[in-house]
Amino acid sequence: MEIVTTIAAARAAVGEVRARGERVGFVPTMGALHEGHLSLVARSRQASDFTVMSVFVNPLQFAPTEDLAAYPRPIEDDEHLAEGAGVNLLFRPDVSEMYHLSRTVTVTAGDLARQWEGASRPGHFDGVLTVVAKLFNIISPDISVFGRKDLQQSVLVSALIRDLNLDIELVVAPIVREFDGLALSSRNRYLSAHERATALSLSRTLRSIQQLFKSGERDLEALEAGARGVLARDACVTLDYLAIVDRETFQRPGRATSGNAAIIAARVGTTRLIDNMILGQDDQD
Ligand code: AMP
Repeated sequence: MEIVTTIAAARAAVGEVRARGERVGFVPTMGALHEGHLSLVARSRQASDFTVMSVFVNPLQFAPTEDLAAYPRPIEDDEHLAEGAGVNLLFRPDVSEMYHLSRTVTVTAGDLARQWEGASRPGHFDGVLTVVAKLFNIISPDISVFGRKDLQQSVLVSALIRDLNLDIELVVAPIVREFDGLALSSRNRYLSAHERATALSLSRTLRSIQQLFKSGERDLEALEAGARGVLARDACVTLDYLAIVDRETFQRPGRATSGNAAIIAARVGTTRLIDNMILGQDDQD
């Protein structure tokens, strides 16, 4: 695995691959890699000849109150895991390489980015789409793999590709979970043992919505209210949102239908976690 830190070196390495006529797959991450990230690498390897991974903790997508400084950066572990998973090129720029001091142009994510995650984290998706657009321009991949774990992000990346006419195929991969259902997240390492046990109630809540849906319940209020009772009544959990939405528009439908998404965000202690499930669909599809 080659490791590069400059845009010029990344472009040169990918340029050689393209000159050989090979397909380039791209997996953007913020590092602190886990099996979820590695599953995206596996998908990229299936669909391309050469997989590029970026590890960049993007300051633009963090609010001043958020965990930018504390975000884990286990660089050596990440290199081992990326190499073991079969990444061909690891692009690990620092902030000054990615953001020119006099930069002025950013991507605006629009209305879809003002709901749910975007409502709780104003400006977050503008920061995400700005860095994704830059990374797409640097790597010029044929395909790029994102996780359904960040469902609203994946819908916005799809909109970015459509609205800016990028010639990139987007692949959205299923959520990788711990044995007990907790969705893997780099932020799980912030959790104490008690918080880790309590965090399980997010996926449990979603599963209870899925069960109610499968037993025939279609009324949104009934589905959401039934599930709220499952969320841990624990002083360390604060629900941010729990809703059933159309998985493309993120609007709440009149009645729940197969393919809608149940989405949840909650703070467990000081750690903000998100999860989702698609109604009527196997979680691993
Ligand atoms: P992050 O490093 O958190 O920015 O995530 C990088 C990519 O990994 C995003 O496309 C995420 O959706 C994806 N990802 C994060 N956690 C998981 C997971 N548990 N399963 C699958 N993909 C994930």
